[in-house]
Amino acid sequence: MKNRANEIVILSGKGGTGKTTLTASLSKMIKNKVIVDADVDASDLFILLNPEVKKQEKFRGKSVAVINQEKCTHCGLCEEYCRFDAIHQDKEGNFTVNFYKCDGCALCTYVCPVGAIKMSEEIVGDWYISKTEFGDMVHARLIPGAENSGNLVTMVKHQAQLMAGEKGLNRIIIDGPPGTGCPVISSLSGAKYTIIVTEPTLSGIHDLDRILKIAEQFKVVPKIVINKSSLNNENVSRIEKFAEDNNIEIIGRIPFDKCVVKNLEKKLTPIEGNCGEVKAEIEKIAKFTESIF
Ligand code: SF4
Ligand code: SF4
Repeated sequence: MKNRANEIVILSGKGGTGKTTLTASLSKMIKNKVIVDADVDASDLFILLNPEVKKQEKFRGKSVAVINQEKCTHCGLCEEYCRFDAIHQDKEGNFTVNFYKCDGCALCTYVCPVGAIKMSEEIVGDWYISKTEFGDMVHARLIPGAENSGNLVTMVKHQAQLMAGEKGLNRIIIDGPPGTGCPVISSLSGAKYTIIVTEPTLSGIHDLDRILKIAEQFKVVPKIVINKSSLNNENVSRIEKFAEDNNIEIIGRIPFDKCVVKNLEKKLTPIEGNCGEVKAEIEKIAKFTESIF
């Protein structure tokens, strides 16, 4: 794809650090961008951005075995051969496939003597293109328990790039998935920057270290935001020392303020209403972010 838009991914080592709140706030302030919710297992950016869905598509995941009950002669060979323990006989005596356990190896289609088993691509989620007051948004939802969240993240990012290309936009803001697993890797792949939102706790510093290692592997430039920075000065100093040792810039220290919680209860970000210092700090982060990507 020619002229890719720059991607910035907002990440955190775990949920509940304020990652989505910061993404929503930046999405409201930064211009010329497409917004992406890449937290496909538990998307919640829509709550703060109130998108209007314009297009909805099914996302197909792995192939799973499907048994045609009319052809099945109940020989039990498929159950015997499936090494993923995905086929069992139900109370009615029918052999059925457990979607979650099936690995898609297709062995059962070969062992079935009457050709009763076929592989079928399962629909594991939906992806959407929506309009918000602050720009177009690409988001998705994976069926609970379904796999393939990494592929779905890649899909929504690809759609965002297509949209940015169509509209001549040069920025994509991505609310990344929490943690350090496969979907985080997909969200970082091809990105220019990542903003890692951390809290002044010992586990926060540990998570920060883990994400930085992945970002380094993918050559994504990291920046740090310390959320609820007023809650523990000692741990803030630890994060500052860690950032200095690793030559990473801290681009914001957002203090704790109950106003943020009150705003979230009303589905508002901290930049609406009167969240004083918090609002000022997020504005500073937005200005900086806009200037680098
Ligand atoms: S496709 Fe493989 S894993 Fe799935 S039910 Fe058949 S044998 Fe088991
Ligand atoms: S191997 Fe084929 S015929 Fe035998 S139980 Fe499985 S689906 Fe039915």
